[in-house]
Amino acid sequence: MKKKVAVLGAGGSIGRGALDVIRERKDLFEGALFAVDKNLNCLEELFKEFPTARFAAVSADKDAASEGLKKRLYCGKDAVLRALEDVKPDAVVNGVSGAAGLLPSLKAVEIGCNLALANKESVVMAWDIIKEAAQKSGSVVIPVDSECSAIFNLVNQTGKENLRRIILTASGGPFRDASLEELREVDVEKALRHPTWKMGPKITLDSSTLANKGLEVIQISKIMEVSPSIIDVSVHRQSIVHSLISLKDGAVYAALSKPDMRLPIHQALHYPLCESSRWGEMDFENDSPLSLTFEKPDCEKFPLLPLAFHAAKAGGFYPAAYNAANEIADERFIKGDASFLDIPKITASVLEADWAAKDKSLTLEAVLEADSAARRMAWSVKC
Ligand code: NDP
Ligand code: MG
Repeated sequence: MKKKVAVLGAGGSIGRGALDVIRERKDLFEGALFAVDKNLNCLEELFKEFPTARFAAVSADKDAASEGLKKRLYCGKDAVLRALEDVKPDAVVNGVSGAAGLLPSLKAVEIGCNLALANKESVVMAWDIIKEAAQKSGSVVIPVDSECSAIFNLVNQTGKENLRRIILTASGGPFRDASLEELREVDVEKALRHPTWKMGPKITLDSSTLANKGLEVIQISKIMEVSPSIIDVSVHRQSIVHSLISLKDGAVYAALSKPDMRLPIHQALHYPLCESSRWGEMDFENDSPLSLTFEKPDCEKFPLLPLAFHAAKAGGFYPAAYNAANEIADERFIKGDASFLDIPKITASVLEADWAAKDKSLTLEAVLEADSAARRMAWSVKC
């Protein structure tokens, strides 16, 4: 029987990658559900290609869809959640951007689907809740974010008990060589130009401030259940080494591929099998000489990185507050209401509040409350 796959964020960069992986093995995978926020054009195209699939568009007007699509389309705030419950896929690729990915991640594991998780924000906000629901239903969460996927695969092979340190690689973003003076002048257009990866606007902006790496530090410490103090970040300009781990005996293992998100998506959809693929393969004969460089990140220029370590170590609602504040800071920058250097300032200011869990338990409700409170605070920070 074919594996029924849902692709959430189907029109985005991860979504399009997931579609390629599905198309490559139509003998194994059936596209069963495709979801977007409002991009009906994308769903009209997919409807022609997958006429029996279901579709969801959270913010779209159903009447604007063609007659054929309309019959298979869910709209409205809970559209993705309702569609997941009705379709009950075997696997869900979550390529929704931002905190909007949290409830779909949770629904996917609650109904027992394996979750190929690109949406790092869900892990940062509520990993414990997702993990508990997955354990209850027996579903497996497989990280898709390239660094997290690399570390997950490396640790699966070497054994967690042997792990000493994790070396999380970062491209460094487009401003890795810029001076503080130059960072003051960064506008939206410059910030949305990434040197090595083609991704959606939010993660591209987060790569330029290193908030993306910060979110990954939190993501990895949660998914791998390790202290953030064993994670080092290293700027690796070529985006070939997707991360490294060192073991107790001093040996270091790395995962290498050309930068192509279809490889970690392929691995997650075929998990736990290792199936042949044509994504990201290295060609040492023809691409040599190959130089791989590793540098220390500049935490003064990019304070969102040390702030993420602080949030990861503090625990409680600090990670959720970091994520929410950063999302609003990004939005304010894109709107022209904050400068590039205001982005970390807004997040730092929000993290000055007390986000400790104290006697509160980390329920979904409490996480969503902290998320809203941090957003309100981030809007009110004066720039
Ligand atoms: P994009 O901006 O390219 O795509 C986002 C997709 O999510 C769009 O299809 C958008 O729909 C859809 N979407 C937004 N809100 C909702 C919602 N509420 N319900 C359903 N769909 C929604 O983002 P990326 O593909 O770049 O990133 C997606 C996620 O993957 C992020 O969490 C990112 O951090 C992570 N990731 C991405 C990588 C990459 O290479 N792109 C690498 C590693 C991680 P619409 O088009 O209608 O707006
Ligand atoms: Mg990444």
